[in-house]
Amino acid sequence: MTIRSDQRRRVHERAGNCCEYCRLAQSGRLARFHVDHVVAIKHGGTDTEENLCLACPKCNGYKGSNVAALDPQTGGAARLYDPRQQLWDDHFRINPDATLVGLTPEGRTTVVVLRINDEERVQQRLGELAAGDYPCTKE
Ligand SMILES: [Zn+2]
Repeated sequence: MTIRSDQRRRVHERAGNCCEYCRLAQSGRLARFHVDHVVAIKHGGTDTEENLCLACPKCNGYKGSNVAALDPQTGGAARLYDPRQQLWDDHFRINPDATLVGLTPEGRTTVVVLRINDEERVQQRLGELAAGDYPCTKE
């Protein structure tokens, strides 16, 4: 995996420095967000910007090279949400308690695989939601 620094910069800019999965903001965090391959190289993905997105360390770490999993609602195979091909608002909703709800097979599968509703992460989002800093929005 070789992502050039200019590509990295453009991925950050395109995402507005927001995690494209959980919508956390990079600003105010010491841990630098990662450039994620939407489709991992081992599954045929490439290093082109059409296959790259910005992900916080937790989303990136749990996603790993996964591209699909079982939809917790139907048990059927589902792709993970693809920030390059799909719109976040079509696949996720934010509850007042800062948990995320998957609205589609892709959304539900992504919430589970990326452990988006882990207690610690929800508590972090809840504080930022109350402060008006969540969800991160592109400028
Ligand atoms: Zn994230």
